[in-house]
Amino acid sequence: MTATHPNDLVDATSALPIRHAGGGAIPRLGLGVFRAGAGAGTRDAVRWALDAGYRHIDTAAVYRNEREVGAAIRQSGVPRAEVSVTTKLWREDYGRASTPRALEESLGQLGLDYVDLYLMHWPSPETRVETWAALVELRERGLCRAIGVSNFTAAHLDALIDATAVTPAVNQIELHPFLQQRALVQRCADRGVLVEAWAPLTKAQRLADPTLLAVADEVARTTAQVLIRWSLQKGYIVIPKSSSPTRIVENAGVFDFNLSAQQMARIDALDEGYRTAPGWDPSTVD
Ligand code: NDP
Repeated sequence: MTATHPNDLVDATSALPIRHAGGGAIPRLGLGVFRAGAGAGTRDAVRWALDAGYRHIDTAAVYRNEREVGAAIRQSGVPRAEVSVTTKLWREDYGRASTPRALEESLGQLGLDYVDLYLMHWPSPETRVETWAALVELRERGLCRAIGVSNFTAAHLDALIDATAVTPAVNQIELHPFLQQRALVQRCADRGVLVEAWAPLTKAQRLADPTLLAVADEVARTTAQVLIRWSLQKGYIVIPKSSSPTRIVENAGVFDFNLSAQQMARIDALDEGYRTAPGWDPSTVD
């Protein structure tokens, strides 16, 4: 008998099937580049990540670093087809006419013909249904391979799917042991939507938590690695951000150890509804 734990299957090459006509997949670990810095900051981070084996980069129009992301991918020598690139539509660009222009602008910045995943960044009430229809058309035109949403609550998700009959490939939400959003995660599973965890490291706010430190000590890893591993074992796609070459490598060192059921349970007990970014709570949106 060999593998005894289902998460032994979470290895460095594992990817989740993602909903698009071509039947592609999204690597479970990606590099986030929010506030990775203008110019060389983002460019270096993406290069270091690609060198370290990452094949998934998460940016957004509003991060204003798509140009650097694209440049780093080209300079890396990694074939375009091997890198999964996500960008996001900012809410000021929502609407039937402005959405295609916004994606074309993002593609111009990235220097790419398509992105692998295009997300509505926020569940803006008045415009999200017509914007979703625009995203469907962009996917049909091949400008994005898959489409999804971000910061959608269960109610937003239900309303969107019920109104359009088109299921988002992913919902990218704030998710870490201190904010587990269990009901929303369950609804995503019920509706066939992959869950992607942003701020998986709590924006470094809770890395010194005593439970995390104890578990990290037991597995001889850092608390950042424990947090990323916890996300992977939960089945989430996870996109930690770092601008440091050593921490980028550290954060990818999560495929050669397991958290036991008992360690997972201790971390599960940390849930306290803690949001790292006050004011960025979509449950206040109709
Ligand atoms: P993270 O939870 O990924 O934390 C990033 C912080 O952790 C940085 O300060 C980083 O510093 C630090 N850090 C990274 N690795 C380590 C480590 N090994 N040890 C100690 N500290 C570490 O927060 P983010 O908000 O950046 O979330 C990740 C990504 O999710 C974003 O970059 C973005 O792509 C996406 N996102 C999406 C949102 C949405 O609305 N859809 C909202 C927010 C984020 P340093 O760089 O110095 O290493």
